[in-house]
Amino acid sequence: AEILLTTAQGIEDITRKEIDGILKDIAQEISERPWGIKGRLLVKAKETYFIDEKGKKRPASIPDMIIQNSRTVHRVIVLLTQGQAKDLSEIEDIVKGAKVSEYLKSTESFAVRAERFGEHEFTSMDIARVVGRIIQEKTNATVNLDHPSVIFRAELIGKTFILGVDVTGDHSLHRKPWRVYDHPAHLKASIANALIELAEPHGVFIDPFCGSGTIPIELALRGYKDRIICLEKFKKHLRGAKMNALSAGVYDKIDFILGDATRLSTYVDAVNTVVSNLPYGLKIGRKGMIPELYMRFFSELAKVLNGRGVFITTEKKEIERAIEENGFEIVHHRVIGHGGLSVHCYVVK
Ligand code: SAM
Repeated sequence: AEILLTTAQGIEDITRKEIDGILKDIAQEISERPWGIKGRLLVKAKETYFIDEKGKKRPASIPDMIIQNSRTVHRVIVLLTQGQAKDLSEIEDIVKGAKVSEYLKSTESFAVRAERFGEHEFTSMDIARVVGRIIQEKTNATVNLDHPSVIFRAELIGKTFILGVDVTGDHSLHRKPWRVYDHPAHLKASIANALIELAEPHGVFIDPFCGSGTIPIELALRGYKDRIICLEKFKKHLRGAKMNALSAGVYDKIDFILGDATRLSTYVDAVNTVVSNLPYGLKIGRKGMIPELYMRFFSELAKVLNGRGVFITTEKKEIERAIEENGFEIVHHRVIGHGGLSVHCYVVK
């Protein structure tokens, strides 16, 4: 089977490593950015079996293995067909050749969720309509947009058209069921986990701008054994982080501190790993405060950090200045796509 995975742009290499670890020798090939598409991976895997509780040999579901174990994947899509299309009639021809009846019985209902990136003279709704009509003709199944039993995902990225069965459902995996408090600038759990991978955490861990606690909570869920600190200036968000941690079942694994990151050394003497999604000043606060905030925070961090730091922000110039002027060295930089923004990610020591 060929399985298409979606994730955040810029962390494909981290997802690849993760999937390699989950599938081990079942994966025959994992390619990053297939057909040049960012935020995608293509997995070719061989059929595999497991022995159930009654001793019977049963086929193992590779999509299920990924859904249950991945921390960085957004969607898992069983690939049906792929081809180059410049208009709706070419999309129609590609879909006509797809083996949809293997995945959809005439008694079942389905929906097509379509997305489009690039310049086209038609909308994603047009794509959904065309694809839906062909699938209906081929299978006789009924359309149910609200509660379909099978979801098809049709994507047109430039001229590359992809059709698959979306086994993730309508909610991307980065939307965590533990999230009961919705911070206005929360980080996707997939990116939080990618940052944790880059940090290779050890010892005392802190997120000094923890917001709703995404990074500390995801770290605790990975079974981190050392101390985890979640520092946040605003009561409302810290309370939200506590609610999220309770809902995730990791409340007692995290120390919550209400405080100001620009006075970090008054709360902790020494930390070994810091991972944080810094305030951008876009959604929260005023943008003019950012240079001073970053400068003061990094000068405090220099007093307590003995290890690595991983940060993301949109404010490239400000963070680079604060990192360098406070004696840190940038050991890695990459750009990650987050909610339509390009955010800069730094690993410093
Ligand atoms: N990663 C978080 C999440 O997933 O919810 C979001 C972090 S948000 C980008 C930045 C957070 O920093 C906000 O919650 C904001 O209240 C907090 N903050 C701003 N200035 C701060 C300061 N001086 N000290 C500590 N926290 C601060």
